[in-house]
Amino acid sequence: MQNFLMQDNDERKGLPSGSNWHRYERCNGSYQLSLEAERLDQVAHKSSAEAASGERCHAAMVPEAVVELEPTEQTAVAFMKERSNDQVARIFGEEPIREIWEKRFWLTIGGKERASCRIDRLVVSKNTGLIQDYKFGFREPDPAEINAQLKFAVVLAALEYKHINNWIVQIVSGPYGVTEAHYDIKAIAHAYDEVVETLARINDEHAAFTPGVEQCRYCPAQLICQAHRDATVAPMTKLQITQLPSEPQRASKLLDEVEMLRRLCDEVETFYSDKLLHDPNFSIPNYAMVPGAIKREVTDWDIARSRLGEYLDVDQIKGAANYRLGDLEKALAKTLKLRSKEAKERINEILQGLIIEKQNLPSLKRRKDFSSTFLDANNGK
Ligand code: SF4
Repeated sequence: MQNFLMQDNDERKGLPSGSNWHRYERCNGSYQLSLEAERLDQVAHKSSAEAASGERCHAAMVPEAVVELEPTEQTAVAFMKERSNDQVARIFGEEPIREIWEKRFWLTIGGKERASCRIDRLVVSKNTGLIQDYKFGFREPDPAEINAQLKFAVVLAALEYKHINNWIVQIVSGPYGVTEAHYDIKAIAHAYDEVVETLARINDEHAAFTPGVEQCRYCPAQLICQAHRDATVAPMTKLQITQLPSEPQRASKLLDEVEMLRRLCDEVETFYSDKLLHDPNFSIPNYAMVPGAIKREVTDWDIARSRLGEYLDVDQIKGAANYRLGDLEKALAKTLKLRSKEAKERINEILQGLIIEKQNLPSLKRRKDFSSTFLDANNGK
């Protein structure tokens, strides 16, 4: 699995990548500033639990791949495989096909590699090509008809498979279904021109910066971007109002600024959290990393349900939202007329051998009078 992730980072060779194409189109300056953020080691959105989960799920989509997944990820991958295969069967039927998974394609101009794009699943028959892009997150993706990444991907695939004149591109998502667009030769030629134009713009030394919610959301340059600061911090500091605007356009603008500012604040905290976690010589007055809370989780809900069934009825067990142990303790306390501490002990007895403890990740907190970068679990509460 690790190889899969490293391969992705190494393979881009510092050149523009298709997964960022929507951002490049909206903010031409973001490509070069992202490289500068890397040089300064001030990259925003470097990693997140969601991104890591998405990478695991993508890796697991490849036939025969062995990837360790969380239970929720296993469900998502199984569902996505079915949805993806249904589309392949609908489009190609019994036609002979060839499939390529998770391959990076390159745009080469004048003999030089200029940009690349990893395609999740590529299926080709004699006359038709299909590109599928999997979206595992819960954020609504741009539909295939206007999806910049797919436009870039289809250009690269068409350059590789020149005999194919009909291309179908799809966004395949769990919560948002499948969206589809068709490209014939004319549409691909048009897309190629647009890609080349974007490439020229993002490499221009005077590339323009255009802040906005969509493009700034995951931009690696956010921590060092003056245009972003000007669009968020500056308006907020000038906000001298007694009433929030009710005029829709102003409300929309204000909410966009708030969202962009919130993300910037999150990234500033993440930056210093990473530094405190990874640099033993670094400390910040009044701030420390506090160990995450301990969570208890049930390892086998089938056995747990049958044991709990002796004390609680089915509705009470189902009523405990998402089978949270805290909710089950409350239900047990009510039924057996126990105090909450007693109910907790009783649940531990009933589910003995089925409960594991997991610790949440440490988080950055403002503290008074501390002398350590890391507080121990007892002091940290
Ligand atoms: S933070 Fe926003 S404005 Fe700045 S480079 Fe990135 S996308 Fe452009």
